[in-house]
Amino acid sequence: MENKILTVCPYCGSGCQLYLLVENGQVVGAEPADGRTNEGNLCLKGHYGWDFLNDPQLLTSRLRKPMIRKEGVLQEVSWEEAIGFTAEKLTAIKEKYGPDAIMGTGSARGPGNEANYVMQKFMRAAIGTNNIDHCARVCHGPSVAGLTYSLGDGAMSNSIPEIEDTDLLLIFGYNAAVTHPIVARRIVKAKQKGATLIVADPRKTESARIADTWLPLKGGTNMALVNAFGHVLVTEELYDKDYVSNFVQGFDEYKANVEKYTPEYAESITGVRAADIRKVMRQYAKSDKAMILYGMGVCQFAQAVDVVKGLASLALLTGHFGRESVGIGPVRGQNNVQGSCDMGALPNVFPGYQSVEDAKIRKKFEKAWGTTLPDKTGYRLTEVPHLILKENKIKAYYIFGEDPVQSDPNAAELREALDQLELVIVQDIFMNKTALHADVILPATSWGEHDGVYSSADRGFQRIRKAIDPPGKVKPDWQIISEVSTAMGYPMAYKNSEEIWDEMRKLCPSFAGASYSKMEALGGVQWPCPSEDHPGTPYLYEGNRFTTPSGKGQLFACEWRAPLEQPDADYPLTLSTVREVGHYSVRTMTGNCRALSQLSDEPGNIQISLEDAAEHGIADGQLVQVYSRRGQIMARAQVSGRIKKGATYMTYHFWIGACNELTVDYLDPVSKTPEFKYCAIRLEAISDQAQAEASIRKQYAELRKQMLVGAVPE
Ligand code: SF4
Repeated sequence: MENKILTVCPYCGSGCQLYLLVENGQVVGAEPADGRTNEGNLCLKGHYGWDFLNDPQLLTSRLRKPMIRKEGVLQEVSWEEAIGFTAEKLTAIKEKYGPDAIMGTGSARGPGNEANYVMQKFMRAAIGTNNIDHCARVCHGPSVAGLTYSLGDGAMSNSIPEIEDTDLLLIFGYNAAVTHPIVARRIVKAKQKGATLIVADPRKTESARIADTWLPLKGGTNMALVNAFGHVLVTEELYDKDYVSNFVQGFDEYKANVEKYTPEYAESITGVRAADIRKVMRQYAKSDKAMILYGMGVCQFAQAVDVVKGLASLALLTGHFGRESVGIGPVRGQNNVQGSCDMGALPNVFPGYQSVEDAKIRKKFEKAWGTTLPDKTGYRLTEVPHLILKENKIKAYYIFGEDPVQSDPNAAELREALDQLELVIVQDIFMNKTALHADVILPATSWGEHDGVYSSADRGFQRIRKAIDPPGKVKPDWQIISEVSTAMGYPMAYKNSEEIWDEMRKLCPSFAGASYSKMEALGGVQWPCPSEDHPGTPYLYEGNRFTTPSGKGQLFACEWRAPLEQPDADYPLTLSTVREVGHYSVRTMTGNCRALSQLSDEPGNIQISLEDAAEHGIADGQLVQVYSRRGQIMARAQVSGRIKKGATYMTYHFWIGACNELTVDYLDPVSKTPEFKYCAIRLEAISDQAQAEASIRKQYAELRKQMLVGAVPE
């Protein structure tokens, strides 16, 4: 007998609702549901991305029992032993070095909001540190920092369904067709309904292909282009003077800062024609409803926060806030990266974006949690390798639902850092590259095996539901963390995810009215939702009241800075990391789905221009060697007319062609987000392709053997 369980897709921030089809305790398919954002549509990951629940062991194996490293080898143990070992080691490290010697992560993936709430509470209340962070640091960290400064809330001001009803879309460094196919569908619909489409991107993406104007800027020149946009708005008096005088501050300083960025000057930096810069800003300013969407092409640079503030300033200057189908949308990548930020898995804020440095707020949490809490901002995720290797400050790392060895920059340095720690705890659903460095592995339930809430990219809380029983002896994440906490002397005894959610709601004014029952009744609730009788908020800043301390929007512009590692004679090309549509993040989930794993496999591709391919004697599909100052890998050449000469692109999903062996760990000074979108590399053709192919097969087989070490078929 088949059951249909309504839940939310675990693969991107679009927040598509779907039914999991369950037969005899196994998931056998998925069907689209009529969710707010997807309205009966799914992309291929939504349709075929459930198969990893059946543990086909295509790539890596499902973790089924706890493990502890004994005499160098990971060995299965009982839960009692694993929890006891973890609690004892953490307690000893805390006593010897202090609570700040322990770092923890949240998880933006399957676990859900309740598990993130419990994790940050554990780090703050049981350990006694604000050292909690997660992979938002390597993606939309600049959006949280920049938009909080400019507008007050570090989130999309608009809703995903509103995209199709705008008059003009300015898409900046955002490849929706690959990252959020269901958002891309809204972009296509907007175009079909007559919207003007402007795309700023070095690559000719799918959106650029259908754009009215494509601005093919050089990589790493975002700030110069955004300043020039501001220059045009100000000097041609296209900005809304009444709006600026009533709702915005900082105009005079802004005007002075953009003065030198004439379109001609910007053209000399960005390569975008001055005439196009003027044309698109005239269109943007004159549109009744205009919306900005942006993604990693803005955030993964060392000048990302500045650019986020600069983009928000364009919308402030032209009064594109406080209504439907206007505003600015940082479209969050992973399914629940908005949620893990909402739940305070960040080093500077409690759940609900409440500052840890505010004594009144801290007192509220201290009263609720029955303990004193640390008052200074904790460490950021991307600072961890340096803090271990250079400053000797971190001794234990509790990695929950992340695989930093695969997803973070400069993988060699990260491996070295992990191996220097006294304790590495990995809590996850699959073996992964980080788990190979673990001292203890705590196996958790997956999406599909537990209840909870995800937050979509447009602030939408939606219920996820348990469809099947988990395999082996795995437990829900919140339960594992609660048991470790209890064993350390800070008891946590939640009965279910709703009890956790209700505790969180009482402490977070913006989320207070978003109960499970309201989500059931309405299909979801967008925050802010301050009370039980509040329906939620599709777009922010109604009445142009911003949530900044002054209540006004804050303009910002500053000098453009070039990316830090520039190409030279030894490393003449640039590398930018990107994604591909069939795979997700570090690929442990999609790589273990039979349909999706067929789409592409090791060693992954490197996209190169026709000119560079010809210059290097490289044909499409050939294996090539790629070098940077940090490492070398092999990848398959994908020669494309959509790529500019001098630039290359790689996805971060693959193990052998792991682009993060090459990437650089230069950070934005405010958000500490790495410059994944720009480092210098060198390409070499390989003359003996047969030998290279054999080498790839051998490396892949060896890695898979290591990953399957924990496989315990039922
Ligand atoms: S667009 Fe995103 S949320 Fe929707 S089905 Fe695809 S991966 Fe899932």
